[in-house]
Amino acid sequence: MTRAHTEDTPFARNYARRMLTFSHGKGVWLTDTAGTRYLDLGSGIAVNALGYGDAGFSRVLARQSRKVVHVSNLYTTEPSLRLGERLLALSAPVLREPPAAVHLGNSGAEANEAAIKYARLWSYLTRGEGHHRIISFTDAFHGRTMGALSATPKEAYRKKFEPLVPGFVSVPFNDCAALEKALDESVTAVMVEVVQGEGGLREISPEMVETLNRLGPERGVLVIADEIQTGLGRLGSLLGCQAVGLQPDIITLSKPLAGGLPLSATIIPGRINDLVQVGDHGTTFGGGPVTSAAALYVLDRLESPRFLADLAVREEQLNAGLRELQQQFRWIVELRGRGLLRGLRLDLGPDQEKLFPQVLEVAQELGLLLLRSGSDVIRVAPPLVISGKEMVEALKRLRSVCETIESRRTV
Ligand code: PLP
Repeated sequence: MTRAHTEDTPFARNYARRMLTFSHGKGVWLTDTAGTRYLDLGSGIAVNALGYGDAGFSRVLARQSRKVVHVSNLYTTEPSLRLGERLLALSAPVLREPPAAVHLGNSGAEANEAAIKYARLWSYLTRGEGHHRIISFTDAFHGRTMGALSATPKEAYRKKFEPLVPGFVSVPFNDCAALEKALDESVTAVMVEVVQGEGGLREISPEMVETLNRLGPERGVLVIADEIQTGLGRLGSLLGCQAVGLQPDIITLSKPLAGGLPLSATIIPGRINDLVQVGDHGTTFGGGPVTSAAALYVLDRLESPRFLADLAVREEQLNAGLRELQQQFRWIVELRGRGLLRGLRLDLGPDQEKLFPQVLEVAQELGLLLLRSGSDVIRVAPPLVISGKEMVEALKRLRSVCETIESRRTV
């Protein structure tokens, strides 16, 4: 197979210099500029829920872009209004209090920045100064802007950019006693992912769900669920909180929301929205008519009657396939995640450092796109529209990747 890599991209070096270069896609398949096809188990980092080349999606974009593309945040449009209402309805069964309002932004980090600002505004206006601290968890990933980065404890992401925003603390993930101890008067909010998408795909424990559901209201602290990676079907239910029983006060969404276009949402309750004044927060592009129309299309598809039922079947199929692989290859030491966001933790022994990165390379050579998560987990996050037949093919290719890695092991 010929593969189309660009060797020396013009992009800043925060991305790899050598990149596979794609020309188009259809369904779960991406084609590079040399014409080679790849089965995509990464979905553009858990974004492309509907896969590539969806005809209905293109029609919606074309129609809306002919009408109006941008009006600013001084005015609004019908698609944005409808999307706002739709997101409130969608999150109502999950949030502890009825959701009252949504702020539409452009990216995951921005959605979390907005959540941080709303939490601080709320504590400042209701309790005064000194109640601004935000707790997040080890291995969390909340984004790369300075506020979201301050809630992302991993050294590798933050060290070169310190000093970060003050008032952020981290607590070991799923350590309920540590959380309880840290939750003093100075804390306004706890930020949590129900499955840690970038940090190794560990799932929130039932004990931590119970602790957050109980302590949030008891201590007057907001629970912010970062559903940027887990939301909108990825874990098998519309929101990841539903899958685990978490009742947050604020939800942030982004990645799949507009089917690959930049859009995010921060959904807040009335007791916060009632305090917010014009000018307290804003963005130029967030929630424009085109991305909103795209999101309405995505939500129509996700909320269509058979979508989640089909997803449950795919989840079962993926789970069974991964279990078989784990039985065959003992160095797949743990399966993590849920729904169509799964992780394979690898322990390749003394060869780990050399072979772990090769898993992604070998996969590419075999026409399969995978992701990593954390330092030792391979992430599988296919488009949610993957068919049964495509899943069989994906698992077959994944087995071939494992066989190649097995053949390269020295012990
Ligand atoms: N939060 C979570 C859970 C994420 O997975 C990500 C991105 O991977 C972000 C926030 C940041 O999103 P973005 O890259 O769109 O800023």
